[in-house]
Amino acid sequence: MTAFARKPTVGVKVGSLTIGGGAPIVVQAMTNTDTTDAAATAQQILELWQAGAELVRITVNNDQAAKAVPEIRARLHDAGCTVPLVGDFHFNGHLLLTRYPQCAEVLDKYRINPGNVGRGEKKDENFLTFCRLARDLGKAIRIGVNAGSLDPELVMAKMQENTAKNLGLSSEEVISQCMVVSALKSLELAVSSGLGEDRIVISCKISRPPELIKVYRRLAELTRQPLHLGLTEAGMGRRGIVWSTAAMAVLLAEGIGDTIRVSLTPSPGGDRREEVWIACEMLQALGIRSFAPSVTACPGCGRTTSTTFQELAQRVDSYLKERLPQWRKEFPGVEELKVAVMGCVVNGPGESKAANIGISLPGTGEAPACPVYVDGVQVATLKGTPEELAEAFLSLVENYVVTRYGKREERLLEPAS
Ligand code: SF4
Repeated sequence: MTAFARKPTVGVKVGSLTIGGGAPIVVQAMTNTDTTDAAATAQQILELWQAGAELVRITVNNDQAAKAVPEIRARLHDAGCTVPLVGDFHFNGHLLLTRYPQCAEVLDKYRINPGNVGRGEKKDENFLTFCRLARDLGKAIRIGVNAGSLDPELVMAKMQENTAKNLGLSSEEVISQCMVVSALKSLELAVSSGLGEDRIVISCKISRPPELIKVYRRLAELTRQPLHLGLTEAGMGRRGIVWSTAAMAVLLAEGIGDTIRVSLTPSPGGDRREEVWIACEMLQALGIRSFAPSVTACPGCGRTTSTTFQELAQRVDSYLKERLPQWRKEFPGVEELKVAVMGCVVNGPGESKAANIGISLPGTGEAPACPVYVDGVQVATLKGTPEELAEAFLSLVENYVVTRYGKREERLLEPAS
C-alpha cells in the first residue's frame, strides 16, 4: 500500500497494542451503553472489536461504573476478546481509580481531560494523583483536551492577554491556542509525576475541521507524543462522516495522527459500529491500512439503463463481506484484494484491468458480453442472465482468492516457470 510519511512519535504501549512509534494507525471506538450494565457494555465492546475497533473506550463516571469494569473485562475474556480498554474519566478519575483498584488494574489506559480535574490548587494535585496511579500500575494515559471543556482559568487568562497586549486574535484562535497550551502544560505536569513519555498520548478535539487541522499541525510541531485524532461532536449521518473525513484526511495525509476515532452521533437505535467502519474506510481510502477487499464500481450514467450493473456491484460487495471472516483465516493478505464491477465499455476495461479481478458489463446498445480481467489480462467473456453472470463472476473471484492468497508457503517454494 502507498502510505504517507508519518511524523515520528514516541511509541506508547497500551495492553498488547502500540500507539505511535511507527506502529500502524490504531482505530478506536467508544461505547454508548450505561457502563453499570456490564452485560450490555461487554456485548457492545465485543461488537465494536469484531467490526475492527482495536481500542475501546468506556465511560467511568461513578462508583457503580468503576465497580462494573472488572466484570466487563471478565465477560470479554470469556468471549475471547482481548481488546485493550480505556477508561474515560472526568472530574473524579483520581478518586475512582484510588477507590477501585481492580478497575484501575483491568483498564489498559486512562483518559483524563485536564479541563475537568478541579479548580485552583486542587487542579494540579488531582491531575498528579491520577498520573501517579498510572505510573505505579504501568498504565498509559491520554491527555484528552476538548474545546467544550477547556480549563476556564486558562481561557480567561489568555483572553485577557489578547486584550491587554492587543494581539488581535479571534476568540476561536484564542481557544485553539488554549488547547495546545493546556495539552503541553499537562504533558509537562504528567512527566513531572514520574510517568514516562512512553506512557502518554495527547488529543485536542474541537468541532470545526479548519481549527482542528491547525491545532494538530501545531501539536505535531511542538511534541513527539503520539496524537489521537478525532473531530469532536461531528454530528449525525452524512454531516458527521463528511466533516470527520474532511478534517482527519488532511492530517493523516500530512503524516499526523497515530490513532483515530470518528465521533458520530448515532441515529436512535442506530448501529454503533458505523464509527468503526468509517474509520477503517478512511484509512483504507488513503492507502494507509487495508481492512477488507474493496469494490471499484462506476456511478452509472445514461449508458446503463438497466439495474444489472448496480445489482451485480451490490452482490459482489455483499459476497466479499460475507466471505471475509473465513478468508482472513485461510488467505493472509486478502484484505488488499481489489475487485471492479463496471457499467460499460467507456471505463470498464480500464478499471477492470487495474483491479485484481474485474468485470466490464455491456452498456445500452453494446454486445451482450462481459469481459473479465485478472491482473490486467482478459481471461473470460461471460454471457447469460444476471443471475448466471453473478454466479460465474463470484466463482472466478473465489478462485482468484484461493490461487492468489492461498498456500502462500507452497507458492513461494514453487520453481519459477
Ligand atoms: S463506465 Fe460507462 S456506465 Fe459507468 S459511468 Fe462511465 S460511461 Fe457511465
